[in-house]
Amino acid sequence: MPRFIKQESDKNIEDASFEQIIYAGDGIFKLIKKGQTLRITDICGQQGVDVFFMDANDLKDRYSAVRTITAQKNLYITTGTTLMSERGVEMLKITATNCPEHDTLGGACSSQSNTVRYAHSKEYMHNCRDVFLYEISKDDRYSKRDIGANINALTSVPFTPEGKTWFNVSPSFKGAYIEFFALVDVMLLISNCPQINNPCAGFNPTEIKLNVWDEISAAQS
Ligand SMILES: [Zn+2]
Repeated sequence: MPRFIKQESDKNIEDASFEQIIYAGDGIFKLIKKGQTLRITDICGQQGVDVFFMDANDLKDRYSAVRTITAQKNLYITTGTTLMSERGVEMLKITATNCPEHDTLGGACSSQSNTVRYAHSKEYMHNCRDVFLYEISKDDRYSKRDIGANINALTSVPFTPEGKTWFNVSPSFKGAYIEFFALVDVMLLISNCPQINNPCAGFNPTEIKLNVWDEISAAQS
């Protein structure tokens, strides 16, 4: 499976049932129902988005980067990738993207990673781990133990033959997007990354847009 399969969306924006702007450093925790399509769009360019999914009907199950990678025998996610849960459930399918890279190796930035990777003085800077914790605190059914290794949409984290990874220059651009088709009911957890110590947000974190469509298109049914 190649690293990037370009696939234009078959969705019309006027048919979307949901639209929300999320500013850098903000997040969302939202139910996406089976059959709905979620689109994440970069509005200004060079913006990475931390994304995680939990099974909305099985509170003990959630997205698994390891199962997703092993199931498709590919480290990278792109059009055609099926996102797997820890229990082996097919959660969502990536149905369209025009962005050449998305990551599920790099994880979410945190106060700890800010300290270890950059400097002790960076410990208190905004980070995705804190946004995740804040968002799931709005629903009593979930706690921090439910958060696992996430997806970094619109983000480049290369993996070298020597086994090294790093956050590369952002591959995203104004109008770049990724779409997920929900195969089961999922809780969507997003942190629009506020990181300014690496290039995942172009050193200038900016807003993104979420859209949701209700119908199952002919192409997906
Ligand atoms: Zn982040």
